[in-house]
Amino acid sequence: VANLLRKINCPSGTHEDSTPSCAVYTDGSGWCFSCSKYFKQLEEPMAEIVPKEKENLDDSFKYISTLPLIVHRGLSFPHDNRGYYIRWPNDDYYKMRMWAPKLDEPKYMGAKGHKKPWFYLRHKSDSCIVVEGEINALSLNELNLGMDILSPGGASNFYDSEMRSTINSFKRYKTVIVLVDKDAAGLKAAIEFHKLVKPYCLDVRVKLMEKGQDCNEILVKENGKEELKKTILGM
Ligand SMILES: [Zn+2]
Repeated sequence: VANLLRKINCPSGTHEDSTPSCAVYTDGSGWCFSCSKYFKQLEEPMAEIVPKEKENLDDSFKYISTLPLIVHRGLSFPHDNRGYYIRWPNDDYYKMRMWAPKLDEPKYMGAKGHKKPWFYLRHKSDSCIVVEGEINALSLNELNLGMDILSPGGASNFYDSEMRSTINSFKRYKTVIVLVDKDAAGLKAAIEFHKLVKPYCLDVRVKLMEKGQDCNEILVKENGKEELKKTILGM
């Protein structure tokens, strides 16, 4: 089935055509509504638009559950010979970090056809730590502080449309702790998120994490757990 792609000026040259009256269809054919001429091949046909394949997450998690665990970056992950797997808390997404991506491959592969949801570790706490990236979130979870931990994704996700539309859910928290990288993107994330959350939560604390000192990098240091705990509780 060919769909209308656009309208162009009639290519027949037999009449004036100031308002484009020749339709071009996705199979490359055309039809002029002014002179009723059919054009078999005005353009190359467009490639079929194939709907994006949607991975069955139940099957994926069945597979991931069979995998042996490996301790990596101070955390425990299921792994196979391609990479290690980061499971989202509600099993609604996962990401695989490739051990050795080729030059043209991305480092991470996410569940195909699924939008990456918030990485949200809920402990029914009245405090929440908001942090960049799920590895940092998992690192904080190792401290067993009992606080909720949320990674909305990267820095720009701290103030995207999803955050804006759900920001009122932060009214459940007395305290929100924001941990971002001490760089331009992190600073912007902190400022924008602070603006959004302030009407809903009075106690918002922000910490800029020095380069090479994100939560995971602290965790893997000697006595890193203690240091990370002090970092959070000392805020
Ligand atoms: Zn025509």
